[in-house]
Amino acid sequence: MNPTPGTDSTPALRIIPRDQHIISRANISKAALRVLYRLHDAGYAAYLVGGAVRDLLLGLRPKDFDVATDATPDEVKKLFRNCRLIGRRFRLAHVVFGPEIIEVATFRGTGEEGGEGDRHIIDGRIVRDNIWGTIEEDALRRDFRVNALYYDISDFSVRDYVGGMQDLHDRVLRLIGDPEVRYHEDPVRMLRAARLAGKLDMRIDAAAAAPFESLGPLLADAAPARLFDESLKMFLAGNGLKSFRMLEQCGLLKFLFPATARALKRGDAALRSLVEQGLANTDARIREGKSVTPAFLFAVLLWGEVRDEARLGIERGLDGPEAWSRAAAKVVGEQCQRVAIPRRFTFTMEEIWSLQPRFEQVQRKRVFRLMAHPRFRAAFDFLLLRADESPAMRELGQWWAHAQRLPQDVLAAALPVLSGAAAAEAAPAPAVRKPPRPRRRRRKRSDSPAPE
Ligand code: ATP
Ligand code: MG
Repeated sequence: MNPTPGTDSTPALRIIPRDQHIISRANISKAALRVLYRLHDAGYAAYLVGGAVRDLLLGLRPKDFDVATDATPDEVKKLFRNCRLIGRRFRLAHVVFGPEIIEVATFRGTGEEGGEGDRHIIDGRIVRDNIWGTIEEDALRRDFRVNALYYDISDFSVRDYVGGMQDLHDRVLRLIGDPEVRYHEDPVRMLRAARLAGKLDMRIDAAAAAPFESLGPLLADAAPARLFDESLKMFLAGNGLKSFRMLEQCGLLKFLFPATARALKRGDAALRSLVEQGLANTDARIREGKSVTPAFLFAVLLWGEVRDEARLGIERGLDGPEAWSRAAAKVVGEQCQRVAIPRRFTFTMEEIWSLQPRFEQVQRKRVFRLMAHPRFRAAFDFLLLRADESPAMRELGQWWAHAQRLPQDVLAAALPVLSGAAAAEAAPAPAVRKPPRPRRRRRKRSDSPAPE
């Protein structure tokens, strides 16, 4: 049961006037301001809410701007031509300004006081989550206290119903209400705790962290598609490494990426370095405005398990490619039961993995064929992440980096046309640094992807 304002540990409403907080309209998107003003001018309550208020108060740039109002979605739609209503169970208005979407949500009630028979039917559908309420009720439905602050466009004050300002000051994430109840209502809140703690450099309150171990298994029942979205927010929003570390530290990784948790547990320093470096590189690319693909990141996260599975297959007598493709199918299949990674990404992941052994084949034809592969770049970046696996692997990465910088004819002249191990042994050309000797491969066959 949610607490009511002013009872238990939940403080009463505190209004922080404009001159006592740092939120300036200059830092709010123009689109969000237009939505707020239009609602306000039409006589509705209009607040910026959630992560945007939290981030602005912390001096950060919000990722998106959400608005809360007492106007119903239909009323919002009447005010904006560029508006579409979305969601069945949680009806929302999206006001669209080019690439920017402002999410406008009507204050939600708890539905408790209405009793059983008072569920709303809107547009002929029973929509249990669409019971409108007051701003106080809306605040109590939110997850963390720092996420329940409202910026009031009518006087530019911040309204704090649950003590979020204090938590921002203390840099702590506290859940609103009883943690066990709130996680049962929605287990994804556990992941949000880890993600936000990572992103905001905050600690998770002991009471909010205590149920992770016992309630983590509830994540198995969460919709895999939603967990995919949440994984993208964790790992592809610029704070991937911090989110990952927090997830692991909280003991939640094993519920979301069991294979990753297992491999890291038995794995070596090289695997940890691959995962952490992969996440750090992704964060850096996002900071530089470069594109990132979920496929690369999931390939990184699952690599340890795929590699170990493939080794096992080879030990049991499978040939290299067969062992690798079986290992990939098994690991991907298991992972997708938790996190619904779309097929187009799992396909790319499997390509990135299966190209790894081909980097060890440095005959002329094969080198050029590999360079022309549509996934060459991703697979090469992946190879570089494997540098800590062995000195030979590091050298291989350097060789390919160098080879790519050479003019085609110079590279062609430098490469052996022979095939197989003999080629690599026979002709380390002067213009190209010597590739790692295949001797290593023969001695420790299961140590790296077997050649085709
Ligand atoms: P981010 O910086 O990632 O956008 P956020 O807190 O804004 O973080 P959103 O998913 O954008 O996350 O959600 C906006 C707001 O909606 C939150 O701040 C919170 O108030 C509320 N909210 C989101 N998810 C939940 C949830 N699972 N349970 C309760 N409230 C939630
Ligand atoms: Mg947000």
